[in-house]
Amino acid sequence: MLIKYHFLFGLIVSLLLYPVYGINILIIFFTNLLLDVDHYILYIFKFKSFSIIKAHDYFFNEEKPFLLFFHTVEFLLALLFFSFYFRLAFFALVGLVIHLLLDIYEEMREKHIGRFPSIIWWYLRKR
Ligand SMILES: [Zn+2]
Repeated sequence: MLIKYHFLFGLIVSLLLYPVYGINILIIFFTNLLLDVDHYILYIFKFKSFSIIKAHDYFFNEEKPFLLFFHTVEFLLALLFFSFYFRLAFFALVGLVIHLLLDIYEEMREKHIGRFPSIIWWYLRKR
């Protein structure tokens, strides 16, 4: 999903959650907004290039599914685990869930899943 939609929806949800979580909504907002940084990290490792424009074009045109670490069930479960011990992890988890729900909505709308939802799934498919 485009970052402008993550920004807009994240802003609305964060503002709605302000009465409950106060200033911690900033963690929710920025986690939701910045989660796609894993696209850029993957691009840098794969192509040894720091071009954001080329990375953007690559992910919009790539047909084969790819592994995005922050978009996996394993990352979600790790954040869930840490959220029992750290408040910061809890708010990051809320931002992550908002982000993933938007991505899933977009994937269902386009009837195309461009990423592996699980590191284990990705690993087993590679073998
Ligand atoms: Zn995403």
